[in-house]
Amino acid sequence: MREWSQLQRQVASSVGFVPTMGALHEGHLQLLRQSREENVATVLSIFVNPTQFNNSNDFDKYPRSMEHDIELARSIGIDAVYAPESSTMYPEGFDTSIDPGSIARSMEGEFRPRHFEGVSTVVVKLLNTVKPHRLYLGQKDFQQLAVLRHVVSDLDMDVSVVGVPTIRENDGLAMSSRNVRLTEEQRRHASSIYSALTACQTQFRNGERNVDVLKDSVLSRLSSIPMCKVEYVSIVDADTLETLRVVHQAAVVCLAVYFGDVRLIDNVILRSE
Ligand code: AMP
Repeated sequence: MREWSQLQRQVASSVGFVPTMGALHEGHLQLLRQSREENVATVLSIFVNPTQFNNSNDFDKYPRSMEHDIELARSIGIDAVYAPESSTMYPEGFDTSIDPGSIARSMEGEFRPRHFEGVSTVVVKLLNTVKPHRLYLGQKDFQQLAVLRHVVSDLDMDVSVVGVPTIRENDGLAMSSRNVRLTEEQRRHASSIYSALTACQTQFRNGERNVDVLKDSVLSRLSSIPMCKVEYVSIVDADTLETLRVVHQAAVVCLAVYFGDVRLIDNVILRSE
């Protein structure tokens, strides 16, 4: 991968990079397509990173479809797929970890301790090997995008971070590799997550700015979804992820819920027009 990248940087004016954990869906493909449009060469990485899972059951059950993913990547004209083994990423003696600090402590960081240390460390390793000009990340994982922007800036890394809007199923459910683990009934109810978020956007557009009021309405809608267990709902500043009491500038409503043992996250942005 390193040799290929070095060569590419000589011949291609820009290399785009899309890191993933595989089990590709339309959301991933959107990132790949955007990178293809904006760069001469595009690299996809597929690595189910053990250090970002704090639940071994989630790691074991994470869907994997390497052959299919490679075929898909080939069919849309991706230039290279980097799929390292765990032993390549974490050989014996590996012991370094990047702690992104306070931006990683709330929301996902609170419920998945050390998750963003795993994410930050693996992404920096991948960037050091792939050496892209642009890094493509989905807004679906809003906090991950904010954390990685922060890491790239703090560590003076020479890469532009590009955030790509969330791709949804027709009924509004955010595409996720974990969706295939939902039962038919859970899948039907899961579309109401997005309805709860869009209802909050409507309330915001109608003038509501009080975070407690907005949050309570999302919580009450979520609690009426059958089979759905809420982990958190937070309304935070869209840049700093700091908690707010009143929405002045751009804010984001982030949430995590469980259907059985399947954990889903989603978010929408609240912005005054
Ligand atoms: P993952 O394989 O889940 O680690 O995701 C790899 C990348 O794809 C991350 O940057 C995600 O934010 C992004 N991604 C995942 N699902 C979606 C989606 N539905 N829409 C846009 N981007 C997504």
